[in-house]
Amino acid sequence: MTRKRLGLKFYGIVQGVGFRPFIYRTARARNLAGFVKNLSDSVLVEIEGDESAIEHFLDSLDTHLPPLAVIERATRKELPLQQDTTFKIEASEKSAAIPVHISPDIATCDDCLAELFDPDDRRYLYPFINCTNCGPRFTIIYDIPYDRENTTMAVFEMCEACRKEYEDPLNRRFHAEPIACPHCGPRLALLNRDGTGIKTQDPLAQCAERLARGEILAIKGLGGFHLAADATRADVVAKLRERKRRGEKAFALMVRNLEDIEKIAHVGETEWEILTSPQCPIVLLRKKRNRIIADNVAPGLAAYGIMLPYTPLHHLLLDKIPYLIMTSGNQRDEPICIANREALTNLGGIADAFLTHDRGIRLRCDDSIAMSLNGKMTILRRSRGFAPAPLKLHKKFDPPVLALGAHLKNTICLLKDDFAFLSPHIGDLETPKARDYLRQSIRLMEKITETTPGIVACDLHPSYFTHRLAEDLAGERNIPWINVQHHHAHVVSCMAEKGIKDYVIGFSFDGTGYGLDGKIWGGETLIADTKNFERVYHLRNFPLAGGERAIQEPWRIGLALLMDSLPEDWEGNAVKLGLAEPGALAPVASVLQKRLNTVEASSMGRLFDGVSAILGCRKVISYEGQGAMELEAICQKSTGVSLHFSRSGNEFDYRPLIRDIVDLKLSGESAGKIAYAFHRAIADLVRDTAQRIRDERKLDRVVLTGGCFQNKILTELSSRLLRSEGFTVLAHENIPCNDGGISLGQAVIAAEKGEWNGNGR
Ligand code: ZN
Ligand code: ZN
Ligand code: FE
Repeated sequence: MTRKRLGLKFYGIVQGVGFRPFIYRTARARNLAGFVKNLSDSVLVEIEGDESAIEHFLDSLDTHLPPLAVIERATRKELPLQQDTTFKIEASEKSAAIPVHISPDIATCDDCLAELFDPDDRRYLYPFINCTNCGPRFTIIYDIPYDRENTTMAVFEMCEACRKEYEDPLNRRFHAEPIACPHCGPRLALLNRDGTGIKTQDPLAQCAERLARGEILAIKGLGGFHLAADATRADVVAKLRERKRRGEKAFALMVRNLEDIEKIAHVGETEWEILTSPQCPIVLLRKKRNRIIADNVAPGLAAYGIMLPYTPLHHLLLDKIPYLIMTSGNQRDEPICIANREALTNLGGIADAFLTHDRGIRLRCDDSIAMSLNGKMTILRRSRGFAPAPLKLHKKFDPPVLALGAHLKNTICLLKDDFAFLSPHIGDLETPKARDYLRQSIRLMEKITETTPGIVACDLHPSYFTHRLAEDLAGERNIPWINVQHHHAHVVSCMAEKGIKDYVIGFSFDGTGYGLDGKIWGGETLIADTKNFERVYHLRNFPLAGGERAIQEPWRIGLALLMDSLPEDWEGNAVKLGLAEPGALAPVASVLQKRLNTVEASSMGRLFDGVSAILGCRKVISYEGQGAMELEAICQKSTGVSLHFSRSGNEFDYRPLIRDIVDLKLSGESAGKIAYAFHRAIADLVRDTAQRIRDERKLDRVVLTGGCFQNKILTELSSRLLRSEGFTVLAHENIPCNDGGISLGQAVIAAEKGEWNGNGR
């Protein structure tokens, strides 16, 4: 037997996730000596013993890692023997700044769940049960290091039983910072709208009863309040819509278990995996015809957004009522409420009562949203469960960058060395509260990632709030400030996710982004790398009458498309199609003709809106993207109808396509078949364009990005056509293809440019 001693260092998410106890147990089981210890940036292990035992030890690092631990990198070297006889967990060095990488919040694990429903367990039915493998993390942190005194759990003094578990390296709750039990931990309370307590032995049972009676409850969760309501009753859903002033936008559902989900939606293999993952996001699932969920939960759409319970409180509640609407507890366009008083003030007009508790939420975190695209989990909103886990980049950058993201679906990104940290979803920056939340997120993210940015990046749009904020921050901190074009940022966001830096063909299709020419872009084909881009093709421009109003009333876009495509007879066709009341047509047409109060757009998202209006699917919308989403929902696959764009110069010309759509519609063809042919025409356009560029430029990697690629039919068709021609398709998975992913692209572009400037060229 040969005796050996190895020094190992592990980098990544390795602190606060049960990594040290795992090392301790594994070493002891193999009769190895040495120690494990947290350092400021890593975990240090020294291990001594029989060589083959050490080999086995190393193998189990690959196979038995705790579920939350992520080893990004490890180093290893041989050391002289010390003749240790035991294996120990050594205290962290005093100066050790614990995790550079803080774990996201994680759904209740199976072990905790079993205890929760075990009458003999001391945490039986305790709504705050957790362990090192699950529970709150990111949302309860004030500061690093991640120790209990730096979390909102600091105010709860551990009882003796909890402390024993917390200090026992062999216990599942060894150093589980949010450890708690019914004796020493947080408690529930049920409140009236005015904040007065409702006397009850069992707030949770009361809450469930009230929900079953049709009341709307505000419920404090992991990353903020939800508004909960019985999803099976149309009258309750209508009441919630009215009080929340929410037109037709779908509500997310929380459903008790997979069996109950399968009664209302189709669950494929990938979707099953996403639903039950530790991140537990909302998953978009194709509806089944059912008589369970009220029709007004997700009107006009093909899918529901569904999640499983992810906190012990949710499990206990859903055990009593299987189908709940669980929508963000906020007023329109404002951030989700996290504090009890804030919730009472802001949600008092919506909720009938409040189920709250005394464990503070420090950081807001909305529910994440994901779907299966091309058979892969694809994140559409990256928030709870994912933030602030970093993304590894293809190389190290210096100096660090702060990128402020887009105006809608805002997130920020901090780039440091070879990691990018994206904030949770911040939202649309339309209200002062949302803007305050953005400022607050910048401070918090800088603190927990210990980053001092040397560059600030933002969108090119001169009137965006983020643009002005970037200018202010750059001034205050005396650092440079870099503007990044929106669609370039989309493409690079996808490239960064895939670790690619060299030229690609990028299709950046979305609703709105400020172009280099001051017009609205959104149907763009770029040749781009992480520094520069060239706009090689784009959708033909069309005017948006009344700017923002055209977005709210897509029939205005439909009219603009008709006038451009059928200049001789747009009026007769508009009337025949019933595009708008005849009286409404003329004034808008005259605005369009004179180009008064109009903006030019080459936006694919707006083309979807316009086609949706022409087909009679959506003439007026009540939320962003509704026209496109409903157009996708009515699609009927058919090969009988085909549509085509033409190409003139570097423009995709939609006019022949619009003329054909009008003819087909007026000759009685079904809107569903035409809608499908429209999707197919865009996918054909993507393939043909990529082929042309490949012929000229010898590029064969294609990025699909921008909000339009949340459309399952479009993304899967385009990917299939491209692959069949031998292209490598790069589609988003980890980072949203919509504006939620923009901050990453901005950060990488700014970092590349910053380095370039730094080199003095
Ligand atoms: Zn657990
Ligand atoms: Zn306790
Ligand atoms: Fe965009």
